[in-house]
Amino acid sequence: MNDSNRHKGLRNQLVETIRKKGIKDKMVLNALSKVPRHLFMDSGFIDFAYQDKPFPIGADQTISQPYTVAFQTELLEVESGDKILEIGTGSGYQTAVLIELKAEVYSIERQKELYTKAKKFLPKVGYVPKKLVHGDGYAGLPEHAPFDGIIVTAGAPYVPKALLGQLKIGGKMVIPVGDNVQVMTVFTRTGEQKFEKLEYGDFRFVPMLKEKNS
Ligand code: SAH
Repeated sequence: MNDSNRHKGLRNQLVETIRKKGIKDKMVLNALSKVPRHLFMDSGFIDFAYQDKPFPIGADQTISQPYTVAFQTELLEVESGDKILEIGTGSGYQTAVLIELKAEVYSIERQKELYTKAKKFLPKVGYVPKKLVHGDGYAGLPEHAPFDGIIVTAGAPYVPKALLGQLKIGGKMVIPVGDNVQVMTVFTRTGEQKFEKLEYGDFRFVPMLKEKNS
């Protein structure tokens, strides 16, 4: 797979743009400078890969805007070895960023086509998730819980209770909540039945839909 000096140069410029927009976490910026985003998009669109914009990836879905990926990842406060659940594998780009941060990533995708593509593609570019699942993110992965962190990369009309219940005490869930516009929300589990909630402004995501689509 081709990752040329030109791609690396464009990627460094993109990371600089994201830094100027307010992302401070050096580990997150470093991870974004490593992941070859152009390879996560169809080859015809490679010229768009290093713009700070979302882009269609098929099945009516998008690869998230790099700034949004950085913003959510920064809020997640990933530490090496953390067990992270991602909802919405999509292109696998966010998955790769988490793996760069040395997380053990479990990721669920509802669209069969995208799940199959990511499962083949990620190991080819050197990113091996702990587990990719074709399923419904609303249910999470109770058999692999609890998680140090949960990141939802689709707009959730409400906060799925099942996901909150799969957090470790001290763990965080980063989730955009809302219908047309989503408020980036972080829940920290502070006790068995206790959660702290903080909000971080408006974003727009493709909707988190119910059940899997074969
Ligand atoms: N993290 C992805 C973002 C993809 S967009 C990336 O970096 O490319 C959001 C993704 O969430 C889409 O692929 C969509 O199919 C998926 N999705 C929507 N509802 C879901 C659900 N209930 N469970 C799992 N995935 C879901």
